[in-house]
Amino acid sequence: MSEHKYQDSVQLEQVIVDGMDISGHWNKMFVPRALTQFDISGLEQLRDIPGAESINNCYQCAKCVGSCPVEYVGSYGPRKIYRKLQIGTNLIEDDYLWLCTTCKNCVRVCPKEVNMGEIIPAAREKAVLGGFIPDEIQEMLQSVSEYGNPMGESARKRAKWTKPIKDSIKNLAKAEEGESVDVLWFVGDFYAYHGRGNDAALAMVNVFNRLGVDFGILGEAEKTDGDSQRLVGESGLFEDLANHNDALFEKFPHKDLVVNDPHAYNAIKKFYPGITGNTRNVTHYTQFLSSRLDELKALMTKSFDKKVTFHDPCYLGRHNDEYNAPRELINSIPGATFIEMPRHKEQSYCCGGGGGGMWLDGLVANYTSERLSTNRVREAVETGAEVLLVCCPYEVSRFEDAVKAVNAEGKLEVMDIVEVINACIPEG
Ligand code: SF4
Ligand code: SF4
Repeated sequence: MSEHKYQDSVQLEQVIVDGMDISGHWNKMFVPRALTQFDISGLEQLRDIPGAESINNCYQCAKCVGSCPVEYVGSYGPRKIYRKLQIGTNLIEDDYLWLCTTCKNCVRVCPKEVNMGEIIPAAREKAVLGGFIPDEIQEMLQSVSEYGNPMGESARKRAKWTKPIKDSIKNLAKAEEGESVDVLWFVGDFYAYHGRGNDAALAMVNVFNRLGVDFGILGEAEKTDGDSQRLVGESGLFEDLANHNDALFEKFPHKDLVVNDPHAYNAIKKFYPGITGNTRNVTHYTQFLSSRLDELKALMTKSFDKKVTFHDPCYLGRHNDEYNAPRELINSIPGATFIEMPRHKEQSYCCGGGGGGMWLDGLVANYTSERLSTNRVREAVETGAEVLLVCCPYEVSRFEDAVKAVNAEGKLEVMDIVEVINACIPEG
C-alpha cells in the first residue's frame, strides 16, 4: 500500500475567489482529488514492460469500452483494465489478462493510441515467464512444443487429409531441396487436422487444380505458424516456429506463398521477417483467388441460390486491412444474395478465437454470459441469411458450435468461402 500523499480532502479556513468569500465546506471542491489508498505497483510494472508502455496513455474517455467484443458479453475494455490497475490489480497475475482476444477494435477508436495488440502479448510474455499461465494455454503450448500443432496430433498425420484426392498432390516434405512450384501452399493446422477444415482443404485442392495452378504442400514438415503462441506470450516458441517454417519456404522456390489462415498471414507477413530476415510474397487465399477472378467466374457455372452473410476475421480485416478480397469472391458466387451483418468490415465483431482465445473458452466462460461466437451467430441469424461464410479456419468449428447453442441448426449453415466456390464448379 503506498503512502498517503494527501488526507482525503482539505478544507481551507478562508478562500476568496473573484472577491467572493467561499470559505467553509464549499471549497473542498478546489482540492485535487487524488487516489492514494491503492497499490499501483501493478500499473507501474505493466507500463515498464517494453511494448506495453501505451497503457499509460489512457485518459479514461471510455471510447474503447463500447467497441470491445468482450464487453458485449461481460465487463471489459482497456479503460476498465486501466481502472483495475489504478485500484490495485496486478494484471500479470490476474485472469483479466487472458480475456482480450487482441481483436484491435479498441485500437481503432482510441484517441490516445493505447495499443492492446502490443500491450497484451508483452504482458503475457511477462506472465508466462513468471508462471502465471492458464492450464488450457499451458496444455496448448505443450502440444505445439511436442507435435508442432496445438491439437496434439501426430506430425506424421499432417498430410492424412489428402488421402481422398484421386490424383496425387505434390507433397514437398518428400521432395528434394530445390524442387520448385508456382504456389507454395501453407495448409495450416485446422485444414490439416479438423474434420470440417479437411472439407475446405479438399475444396481448395480442387479449385487450384481447376485453375491449373502448379502448387505443392509442405505436408509432414510444416509446423503451426506460431501467431497464437506469440499472442499468448511464448515468444521463444514463436521464434523457433518462424525459423522452422521459413527454412522450408527457402528450401522450395516458389512465386506465391498462399495461406488460408489469417493468423498465418499475419505472422508470416509482419513478424517472420524480424526473426528470419526474409520477406515472403505471402497472400491470403481470398486475395490469391480474387486475383484470378475472371477465370474463376468462368468455372463457376452452378448456381448457389442462397442468402449469405460474411464474418470478417480480425486478423485479415482490422490487422491487415483486407476487406475487399473476400467480398469480391462472395459477390461473384452465382445465384447468391449477399447480406452484410450490421457489424462488418472495420467494425466487425470478434469470434473470440484470436489471441489464444481458441484455447481459453473454459476460463473466459467464468467472466462472460455467452461465447463471443454465440453473440456473432445471433447477429448472422437476424440477417435472415441461410449461410454464414468465413475465411478463417478457426471459425467453422467455433460458429458451428454456436449455431447449436442458439438452436439455429437447419436454419444457418457455416461454410468456408472456398467450399462454396468449389460447389459452384461442376465436375470436369
Ligand atoms: S479509448 Fe483509449 S484513452 Fe479512452 S479509455 Fe479507452 S484506452 Fe483509455
Ligand atoms: S483488443 Fe479487442 S478484446 Fe482486447 S480490449 Fe481491445 S476491443 Fe477488447
